[in-house]
Amino acid sequence: MPEIFRNYIAGQWVECQSKKTVPNINPADTDEIVGYFQASGPEDTQAACDAAAKAQPAWAALPAPRRGEYLFKAAEILESHLAKLGEDMTREEGKTLPEGKAEVKRAINIFRYFGGEGARQFSYQIPSERENVFCYTMRKPLGVVALITPWNFPSAIPAWKMAPALVGGNTVVIKPASLAPLSAYRLVEALHEAGIPAGAINYITGGGGAVGNTLVDHPAIRAVSFTGSCEVGGALYDRVTKRRIRVQLEMGGKNPTIVLKDSDLNYAADVLVNGAFFSTGQKCTACSRAIIERAIYEPLMKILVEKTRKMKVGNGLEPGIDMGPAVDQGQLETDLNYIEIAKKDGAKLLCGGHRLTGGIYDKGYFVEPTIFTDVTPEMRIAQEEVFGPVLAVMVANDFDDAMRLANSARFGLSASIVTRDLTRVYQFTNQIQAGLITVNLPTAGVEYQLPFGGTKESSFGMREQGPLALDFYTETRTVYLKYTQ
Ligand code: NAP
Repeated sequence: MPEIFRNYIAGQWVECQSKKTVPNINPADTDEIVGYFQASGPEDTQAACDAAAKAQPAWAALPAPRRGEYLFKAAEILESHLAKLGEDMTREEGKTLPEGKAEVKRAINIFRYFGGEGARQFSYQIPSERENVFCYTMRKPLGVVALITPWNFPSAIPAWKMAPALVGGNTVVIKPASLAPLSAYRLVEALHEAGIPAGAINYITGGGGAVGNTLVDHPAIRAVSFTGSCEVGGALYDRVTKRRIRVQLEMGGKNPTIVLKDSDLNYAADVLVNGAFFSTGQKCTACSRAIIERAIYEPLMKILVEKTRKMKVGNGLEPGIDMGPAVDQGQLETDLNYIEIAKKDGAKLLCGGHRLTGGIYDKGYFVEPTIFTDVTPEMRIAQEEVFGPVLAVMVANDFDDAMRLANSARFGLSASIVTRDLTRVYQFTNQIQAGLITVNLPTAGVEYQLPFGGTKESSFGMREQGPLALDFYTETRTVYLKYTQ
């Protein structure tokens, strides 16, 4: 019998008021129920927010380095179970086991990084123009913060929101995605085992529609950090800004990789395969547009298709698998639907394009890694986020044409270029409309210690991760202190 996982409110593992649960299903083997999670509603959400509000003054009064110690301890606990937690993630989300383990390791690194921030919450000391006046700034927590997270990085994203929030002196209510709530549960469990004071972190599961409004409308909530789709993010923005509280939104992408004619084609193809198909293309930073200079278009396509056809698709728990399933039936249908749209719009299917069936494939939501060519910028496949393993390839006449194509989408999350030409590298990094820019690397694969976030319709608000993350979770107070009368 699969385990029943509870909410975590005021330091207690509790059932939701309705006593109803929802199953968490393995997308690679739909016979497997990973666990049952609480189908929380408004009253559970209210209780979680109340608990966070009650705990907040004492948590904020704890010296920041001591708040950081709970993150260090939780990181140790997580590390001791790393292999198991990686498997949990593969079971609930479908990514391959090496990807699952790497993500858990990343969450551990995030806890350690922000544990250290407890002793490093720098602010300014600025000279006064008056005599005997000493001026400085202080960071203060906001209060209670609401964190709403998606299914595709079910450990790293909760970690990169809750760690800076906690070390900044805020208490937290986190609502993970219904499709993959176990990985965030494991983070909360580790904090609980680390002895974090009751109410500092609160975890509730339940449909976004059932808990979302109560969560962001609760008067104790002073900030909302959201990662997910543009649709939900946009609606949250409208709602939350009416209350004039802080909001941070990380949303979709349509990330381009430009390949210039001086590139090593084999290397460029590896960059494209990694960016477009690893994690089944279910990364906000995945490459979904390849923009290739005409002179190398034919030979590069040949290598790219060969490499793509060699990819092993299957259950990510098995060794040697390159790509797991779509996360659920809905995402599978979205992938297949966009494949049909691309064909109708006139794009040419170069490889893939089908659901995989037969044997183990019948038990999960497997789709082939897919490449379309002859894509033009006005096609929907060039403009809309699929969030699956579907790469749209466009041909560019030269560098300027490539930049025009790359900047033609409404999103601006990540972008990359493959070239050995330093002048082009400089021009690219200077002109590309993206928040995350890589050179001779895939569009995905960012590190925890650097700021993360996009531009245009991909993101709103302050950066996450790295040294800038605390800016969102703290506010600045300015002190003018005259030390003689
Ligand atoms: P989603 O459907 O927008 O859901 C994100 C979160 O919002 C989930 O926890 C969801 O709960 C919740 N939610 C849904 N309706 C809500 C409401 N009315 N009020 C409050 N919360 C609500 O996104 P997703 O399908 O999980 O994730 C995929 C999307 O995330 C893609 O667009 C991807 O690009 C984006 N993403 C962006 C980044 C980034 O950093 N830019 C990173 C990762 C993913 P339920 O699960 O219960 O519906």
